[in-house]
Amino acid sequence: MGLQTKKVDYAFECIDCGKQQDAHNQVIYLCPDCSSDNTPDRPPRGVLKTVYDYSLLRNKNTSLSDLSLNGFLDLLPIERKESLPPLRIGNTPMYVFRELDGRPLPYFLHVKDDGQNPTFSYKDRASALVSAYAAERGINTIVAASTGNAGSSIAGICASRGQHAVVLVPETAPKAKISQVMMYGAHLIPVRGSYDEAFELSIRLSNTYGWYNRNTAYNPLTIEGKKTAAWEIFTDMAATAIDRIFISVGDGVIISGIYRGFEDLLKIGLLEKMPVLVAVQSEESDNLVRNMAGGHFTIKTSTTMADSISVDVPRNFRMAKQLLRQYGGEWVTVRDADILSAASVMARNTGIFSEPAAAAAFAGLLKYHREARLDAGTHNIVMSTGSGLKDLRAVEKMIRLPDAVDPGLTSLSDIRDLPPGL
Ligand SMILES: [Zn+2]
Repeated sequence: MGLQTKKVDYAFECIDCGKQQDAHNQVIYLCPDCSSDNTPDRPPRGVLKTVYDYSLLRNKNTSLSDLSLNGFLDLLPIERKESLPPLRIGNTPMYVFRELDGRPLPYFLHVKDDGQNPTFSYKDRASALVSAYAAERGINTIVAASTGNAGSSIAGICASRGQHAVVLVPETAPKAKISQVMMYGAHLIPVRGSYDEAFELSIRLSNTYGWYNRNTAYNPLTIEGKKTAAWEIFTDMAATAIDRIFISVGDGVIISGIYRGFEDLLKIGLLEKMPVLVAVQSEESDNLVRNMAGGHFTIKTSTTMADSISVDVPRNFRMAKQLLRQYGGEWVTVRDADILSAASVMARNTGIFSEPAAAAAFAGLLKYHREARLDAGTHNIVMSTGSGLKDLRAVEKMIRLPDAVDPGLTSLSDIRDLPPGL
């Protein structure tokens, strides 16, 4: 018998002081006590984590199918499933591969293809929850600062249900992603300045006009929405233990979200052991990984071509660091050249074409592979967080188109670079 109505209460809890905030009768973003001294040059304090009263679920020996019967409503900070947008969010496919470039792999390689979300990126999981939360409070306009994917995501999700999206982007944002925002009918505001300046302006606009703000990590639902992939992975893997999950990291919101999903399962008693999550960053944007050792937070200006993970000040650094430390996570950097090469290896071996920011996770797995750190028989998952069609400019640079042939061609021997065996 599944739980047919929502029974589990929830609150927002500050990751810095632990104080809980009412999540029902107010719209709140950061812990007011801890965020008052925040400055743009270091990761914000006072980010809120959503916590649930798990006792009811634990006492009832709740099964995964009980939870899924009700759309996992008891583990989401919304009141009704009907509040979610009509598009299919999440429930993306996971595939298993046993060889690379014709050579058998000693381990199992799984790829979760989140590029198959409605706007072709993982961010739809967060946008869907933000949209539902706004709908339950009668707020019809959602504002977001974005470098591309979060903006196009909230634009698409809002378009599906008659909500308005206002998207602020630095005027240098990639044109393909801006075009997607505009095609969904969102109101685009290019900002003469950086992402950080667009971020601050979006907060002023939401405070002035009462718009709901979707800024990543600033809004606690952006973290919570990203946890649903963990439940899907757990379901897909059935009784099989997961060894490692490779995740590209920019702001640290996706990796924190995936930790949150598994944390739910641990606390209900459905999962025995947290998988090892591996945070993968580009060497050209390594502000989360480089600051894991602690001490004064230092910024190295990001220059990676993987724009979705190009971040100077990771907005969810403090939570991601806490979770990586608490659960024995790992972190690694890869070169931009390795990311482009990984995108190619992944596409030709799996049929999944991912944008560079997503291929970074695959590059992380390949680095572990080269260093023989993946034991035989283990199950390793790569999160593919966005479609390659999002950012064609990056890969076009490494593709050399073949010369045209004469239509009267009679022999392939005149064509250069044909693969052997054709
Ligand atoms: Zn606090």
